[in-house]
Amino acid sequence: MIRIARRTCLAAALALAACAPQPAPESAPPSQPARVTPVGVRPTDIGGNLPAEPRWGMVIHGGAGAMTPQSIPPERQAEYQAALTQALMAGHAVLARGGSSLDAVEAAINVMEDNPLFNAGRGAVITADGRIELDAAIMDGATLQAGAVAGLHTVRNPIDLARAVMERSPHVMMIGEGAETFARQNGIAMVEESYFWTPNRRTQWERMRMQDSLRADSVRRAGQGAGYSVPDERKWGTVGAVALDQRGNLAAGTSTGGMMMKRFGRVGDVPIIGAGTYANNRSCAVSATGHGEFFIRNTVAHSICALMEYGGLPLQAAADSIVMRQLVTQRGEGGIIAMDRQGNVAMPFNSTGMFRGRVGADGRPVVGIFRGEP
Ligand code: ASP
Repeated sequence: MIRIARRTCLAAALALAACAPQPAPESAPPSQPARVTPVGVRPTDIGGNLPAEPRWGMVIHGGAGAMTPQSIPPERQAEYQAALTQALMAGHAVLARGGSSLDAVEAAINVMEDNPLFNAGRGAVITADGRIELDAAIMDGATLQAGAVAGLHTVRNPIDLARAVMERSPHVMMIGEGAETFARQNGIAMVEESYFWTPNRRTQWERMRMQDSLRADSVRRAGQGAGYSVPDERKWGTVGAVALDQRGNLAAGTSTGGMMMKRFGRVGDVPIIGAGTYANNRSCAVSATGHGEFFIRNTVAHSICALMEYGGLPLQAAADSIVMRQLVTQRGEGGIIAMDRQGNVAMPFNSTGMFRGRVGADGRPVVGIFRGEP
């Protein structure tokens, strides 16, 4: 009897302890006065262990695909390396002056969106209908606030709009015309759709249009179904960044034109929170690149975080488990970049290459394209 009473007391005490207010974790101060706190999320809910001295820094990617040292001429490789370094240093400058991981992610992605080498912003791939349809997402690991946009035609830097959706609306995701109206209302830079077209993309698009109509002809003649695998060339160049700031807060962001010759209205993994983009101070920040449909089906970014948070796996093991095993089994090509709150970094990819780079507090950027590079 006494034992039962004691047990009841213990259970009640534990329950009370669980309900008691938790100590507030470190979280970044709001950077916009108009910030909206989403229903159901208290900014102090999300914490995780903060090491005494976080190893702050950032990791970026510029897309994964079937690139090899033979398929990209050396001068083009140098251009990519320079562009990745420029993006890393833009993010590093923000972090070094004590800025937030969100600001660093946005700054690095802006550099790559403006560079026509990448499939994001200017230089984005073109849809089968000859349109530009851009997607992006950003997420704050300290609060779990997130913003995502899809199907944009005239927003110059989609990551800026994703951030505005996160901070200036009560919503997480906006698409198409409505998202563009919201962009105009919030003073986000707009451009003509022709701004995004580059001579290289036009040539690539015209060639692929020709190939697709030849393929459709032969499929019709053979009386086969319409399915075919997506050629590698269609999958390169999405950009993404993850960062850990000096306060120990994580953030992730991703921006893309999607896949070359995608069908009208197709949305990939990038703006799907938990698929191509996710951040949580309790586990890690992830940005993905690759064949989006597989990343959506496997909720890749959130699965990696969940393996850490609920399964206790270290970052590299969690990332490898999804990218190098689960996706490989399904032939879902691509990779991810990730950082945890201790400043550990993972960049697994199951394709032959992934444009990528990292920089820490020492300000020395390291970039790579192919397997075996640092
Ligand atoms: N994941 C992107 C998408 O499917 C494409 C890419 O990463 O290259 O839209």
